[in-house]
Order: sequence, then structure tokens, then C-alpha cells
Amino acid sequence: MSIRIQKTFEALFELEEVRGLFRESLPTGFDAEEEAAFRQRIASLRAIVADLEAGTGTPKVTKIAGTLDVRSREEEYINIHPIQAAGRLTTEARKAIISYGDGYSTCDACRKPFRLDKITKPGIAEFHEELAKWLNMDQARVVPGARRGFQAVAGTLVGKGDSVIVSALAHYTEFLAVENAGGIIREVPLNAKNIVTGEATAQKIEEVRRETGKLPVLVMIDHFDYQFANEHEIKEIGKVAHQYDIPFLYNGAYTVGIQPVDGKKIGADFVVGSGHKSMASVAPSGVLAMTDEFALKALRTTAMVGDLTKRKFGIKEVELLGCTLMGGTLLSMIASFPAVKARTLKWDDEVKRSNFFIDRLLRIGGSKVLSEYPRKHTLTKIDTTGSFDTVAKTHKRRGFYFSDELSSRGIVGEFAGATRTWKLNTYGLNEKQIRYLADVFTEIAEKYEIPVAK
Ligand SMILES: *Cc1c(COP(=O)(O)O)cnc(C)c1O
Repeated sequence: MSIRIQKTFEALFELEEVRGLFRESLPTGFDAEEEAAFRQRIASLRAIVADLEAGTGTPKVTKIAGTLDVRSREEEYINIHPIQAAGRLTTEARKAIISYGDGYSTCDACRKPFRLDKITKPGIAEFHEELAKWLNMDQARVVPGARRGFQAVAGTLVGKGDSVIVSALAHYTEFLAVENAGGIIREVPLNAKNIVTGEATAQKIEEVRRETGKLPVLVMIDHFDYQFANEHEIKEIGKVAHQYDIPFLYNGAYTVGIQPVDGKKIGADFVVGSGHKSMASVAPSGVLAMTDEFALKALRTTAMVGDLTKRKFGIKEVELLGCTLMGGTLLSMIASFPAVKARTLKWDDEVKRSNFFIDRLLRIGGSKVLSEYPRKHTLTKIDTTGSFDTVAKTHKRRGFYFSDELSSRGIVGEFAGATRTWKLNTYGLNEKQIRYLADVFTEIAEKYEIPVAK
């Protein structure tokens, strides 16, 4: 680790030590012993900051709690990990978790009727309203991951033996949400270009009707799938679902938070997004938005009464088990939200940079793109069997030679050892970084005498 990054962490940790002193002292201030400890910590902090500024010194703190390594991946490297790119925190989100990391930190000013989305200080209620408006839906709730959004919807709409339409590229969490509700997955096949079409969705619905005598109870489709990040015919699919009067869940795990999403325009009854994948938020976080029509069902409140105590729990929502993200997760979402909203408006630039990189990769002889091309997303599945894998065959490190070459140049996030088909995500890389990334791939190709077209 660069000594400056190391010293940045040490300084942050030292300040946390100072913070700990405040927490252990009386509200009236330090006693003599605490004051001495405070001065000692500050002196140590000054030394760390001096090293930080000069780039000198040696690592002093390498573990947290004696066991955990300091994670400096995002400071030290360009990270092209397929699922991590758009979940990197903003600086404001990192400040929020420093400040709101304590357990139920959202609950300082929770008042009757005691529900997370009603809290006004901090502005959680307002955030919920803004979230719904931003997605152009009527209601929004925060959930611990997109998967919990699927689960809440499936728990509402899917009964035992009911069929649910998903795509042949559906995420495993969609399978699990349906399974958990006792439903049956029915997959829409892909066309020759690995796209899910409205027409194929209609055919699948008909097939289910023919075979079971019943219509599916939910259509749940990813706008961009996780395997190729191809764009599927989401609007047409929404239309088809409505023609059959089947509720439509738009899975925006790879869109909400990185590109504009207009739920009404898409014709979605539910919009689901992932906070830790695409909204620069701490895991597990996500959003479940819906129309008022479906809020009546999916956000139904508890009706249960205790037989002994006759207790009832008012307006707690059953599918959400009352409250969801009660601490730093939610505050990180809120802190990132202004930046997230702004960045969705620059999606075209992200796609341009994605294509810039892919074009450069394609100049390396034998490289292929398995995703649709030109790219409409920053996540891409590539095939380097004909380029980088040809070297792996004879290299003593096998496929790992490629990871070694990348990491020694400050690139991480590729699937270690994979040189055939693998995914990368360029989301969030600026102009300078994307050029650097492309140059690194070219440089490695040239080093191993893989032909590169000019
Ligand atoms: C990542 C992903 C999910 C799961 O998101 P979580 O927020 O981790 O639950 C669901 N669907 C798709 C298409 C994904 O890419």
C-alpha cells in the first residue's frame, strides 16, 4: 500500500480513537487522565499527518480488531469488478457512515406512529418521497437489497404453485424470491441476440396458460441483465404484461442509480433497485417503489392481534417486517442521493467511455465481446480466449499471469485467473482512468506479442 494511503487510514483511525475518548468521558468534559490520553492521541495524529504530507514513515496499523485487513482497494487501484463499480461510496456517504454508524442511529427522533419512513429528523420521510418521485412511482420504501424487494412483491402476489415469468437471464435472487413464496419460475427464452422480447414474453405467458390453465401472477424482468448487461425490451414486456392484466416488476438492479428510470413510462407496477450495486450505498440496501394501486397490497399493514395481550402493531408494514434500514446503510443512501441523481443524467458519457474501452480491447487480436455491441452499458462480458488466454496456455502462472500483470499496473476486479470469458465494469471511471485502463490492456498484449491493430 502506498504510504500516503496507509497514513490516511492511520489518521482516520487515530481520530476514531479520539472520538472514543469523548464517548468514554463524562458529558462535562475530560478528567486529568483523559486529557492526558487526548493529548497523546493528538500528538500521535500530528506525527501521522506529517508522514501523510511528506509520504514518509512505515505502516503502524495494519489490522482492525487484530484480524481485519485495511481495505484500500478503491484508493490504490482502478477497480473494474462487475458488481462493485457503481456501489462505491461517495465521499458524503463515507462521512455519513462515520457519523451514523451506531446501530439504530436513524431512530433518535422516531415518534409515533413509529415507522422508519415517517421519521423527519434526519429527513428520512422526505427521502422516501423524493425516491418515489425520482423513479416516477407513487410510493417507495428502502429495503435490504433488491432481493428483499423481490421477496416483498413475491410474498404479496405469489401463492403456492403460482407461475412467475422471469427472463432466461434472470438473477438467482429472483428465483429464490419466487421459491420462498412457493411459486414456480417460468423463463422467457432469449432471441438470437440474447435479448428478451415482448413477443417472447407473450408466448411464454400463453404457454403457461395452456399448460396450467392459469395465467402467471407476476412478470419480473431485468432491464439490463447481470450476465451480458444487454438491454431487454422492457417497455414492450410491460405492455404485454398489462394486456394480460399481470403485474409487472421492473428489475433495475443495473439501472436505478446509474441511468434515469421512469417507472410510469416503462409501465412498471413495481420498480426495484439495488443500493449497494448501483446507488453508491452501504450493503445491504435497495429500493422498492410501486404504484398506489399495488401499495395497498404490497405495503399492507399488520392486522395481527396477540391472543394473550391483545397487542397490535398499528401501521407496521408486514412485507417489510416493520422497519428496514435503521442505520448507516440508509444514511449512506441519503448522503449519496444528490450525487446519484446527478450522475444518472451523465449516463451517456459513461456509455461512451465504456465503448471507448471496448473498442480498444477489440483491437487486441482475438478479443471478442459477448454482450450486445456497441455497448449500451458499462458492464460487459468479453471473451479473451483468442487473445490473453493464448498466453495462459504456456505461462507458468496460467491464467493468473493476467491478474498479476493487471494488478502490478494498478487494475483489480477481474475474476482472478480468468482469461477466457469474463465480465468487467467501467462505471465511474473518468476520462483519464479509462484511457489508462485501455493502455494497460494494450501494453500487456504487446508485452506478450499479441497483435494489436493501430
Ligand atoms: C445484483 C442483482 C440483483 C441482486 O441485488 P441485491 O441488491 O444484491 O439484492 C438482482 N438482480 C439483478 C439483475 C442483479 O444484477
